[in-house]
Amino acid sequence: MLKFLILFICSATPLMTSCSQGSRIETETHIAAATPTKNSNKQLVVIDPGHGGFDIGATVKSIEEKALALKTATLVKQYLHQKGYRVILTRSRDVFISLSKRTAIANDTKSKLFVSIHYNAFKNPQAKGIEIYYYNRGSKWRQNASKKLAELVLDGMIKTTGAKNRGVKTGNFHVIRETYMPAILIEGGFITNPQEHSHLSDQKYVEKMALSIANAIEKYLKT
Ligand SMILES: [Zn+2]
Repeated sequence: MLKFLILFICSATPLMTSCSQGSRIETETHIAAATPTKNSNKQLVVIDPGHGGFDIGATVKSIEEKALALKTATLVKQYLHQKGYRVILTRSRDVFISLSKRTAIANDTKSKLFVSIHYNAFKNPQAKGIEIYYYNRGSKWRQNASKKLAELVLDGMIKTTGAKNRGVKTGNFHVIRETYMPAILIEGGFITNPQEHSHLSDQKYVEKMALSIANAIEKYLKT
């Protein structure tokens, strides 16, 4: 049920048609998914699958960004669990969650890290590759930590997938700006690029990408 609506068109850069921030629409939400998992003294990580519910994100043929982001995030959670980490997903099903709720989940639980997962789209189908954003204002410590996390995750993803490296970038997106802990936003490839669309339709590719994200998070937390 909608309480009120504030809708902005979201765009990663003036040229991009992607929707990195998700539509800024406030609703009543149910965060049944945001329950910490049990029995671990290890650090808590919040993984944020972009979009959800009526906020579909980018869509090309069989791929909806909201579904692919959820699939990836669920796998990252599974791999981090196997390593003994506690993980909260900001959503574990196809439901709309406001951006402020997403950051509140991370801030209220005092998560060590916040990792948002998105996929890109662009009008030119040749655009391809993986890029990761962090917020470069505010606390210098958080800036540096977020950048380091972004570099580790991007390095791992590129080595694992062989995708084009579009680099670590700075961005002023709600979820990486309003979180208190090191935070990154992953754009895991262009669903508008035929080759990446094909890769991202392959469960094995998504699994190895998710594992590379989990491995990089572990590497960050151990150093
Ligand atoms: Zn997005």
